[in-house]
Amino acid sequence: MKKTVTLIVPCYNEEESLPIFYDAVCDVAKGLENYEFDLLMVNDGSKDGTLRVMRELAKKDARVRYLSFSRNFGKEAAMYAGLCNAKGDYTAVMDADMQDPPSLLPQMLEILESGEYDSVATRRVSREGEPPIRSFFARLFYKIINRISDADVVDGARDFRLMKREMVEAIVSMCEYNRFSKGIFGWIGFRTYWLPFKNVERVAGETKWSFWKLFKYSIDGIVNFSQAPLSIASYTGMLFTVLSFLAMLFVIVRKLIFGDPVAGWASMVCIMLFIGGIQLLCIGIVGQYLSKTYLEVKRRPHYIIGETNDESARRIG
Ligand code: UDP
Ligand code: MG
Repeated sequence: MKKTVTLIVPCYNEEESLPIFYDAVCDVAKGLENYEFDLLMVNDGSKDGTLRVMRELAKKDARVRYLSFSRNFGKEAAMYAGLCNAKGDYTAVMDADMQDPPSLLPQMLEILESGEYDSVATRRVSREGEPPIRSFFARLFYKIINRISDADVVDGARDFRLMKREMVEAIVSMCEYNRFSKGIFGWIGFRTYWLPFKNVERVAGETKWSFWKLFKYSIDGIVNFSQAPLSIASYTGMLFTVLSFLAMLFVIVRKLIFGDPVAGWASMVCIMLFIGGIQLLCIGIVGQYLSKTYLEVKRRPHYIIGETNDESARRIG
């Protein structure tokens, strides 16, 4: 029997790229006769004609399923919805903008078939076409998260990876609300082959990630997979307590022995401001964890599907 491959495509305002992506995937699928492909497109509340394009593709091709969210829930939610509804023996998540080249699929399938690996992940080895400042912060982020967390995140890793069923089930079982897939992939383990490729620029449309959005996403990644910032906050607190004791001793001894009165309110104000700043920073760190906990305990669904052509799809998950 032929093995089935589900391709999950999260789409937000991709009406121009989606047809190009679809054609490219069809071309690749034609060359892989031993596999049956199905496309699971997730419309993440697009404001353009993405849903119309999906409906048209689904009408002419029975291999196309689409899930259309009731609003924009973000790429993480779109990937989660796709993984919850993927049926293939193998599953891959792919961007609609051709930045995850479908031409890599044959090689990825071959590597999985060898039986040595449970997943084949891709990482871009160049960052051409990206603003240098963004590349700098991206590299810095990977360095920090690898040092302070147990989620093994590879620099340049993309969400594009082909996985066996077991791995998909493990990911779906991690039903946390604040999702950071790169960390989740690393956390669940399994044997992963890293396939390097050169960065490709998107075919049409524009990126949905502003610098600010990426910054918030990286904070999510750190808070989700590391408790180090909390430790930093408490260690800083300890350090300052010790320092203040020493300073107190210094002032008392000086007064007793030399009879010096305390002078210099300017330095006092600086110290107060400094410590006040550190306090706020530490409360902020605790607040980050608290707010994540608050969102987790509410147990809201990750996504809500407003329309789909798949009767058996899990509509709220
Ligand atoms: N995407 C999504 N929901 C969002 C933002 C993006 O489903 O809120 C999809 C988008 O349509 C694309 C993929 O996620 O298929 C990657 O987005 P993009 O190309 O903008 O990110 P970049 O490649 O620049 O990191
Ligand atoms: Mg892209």
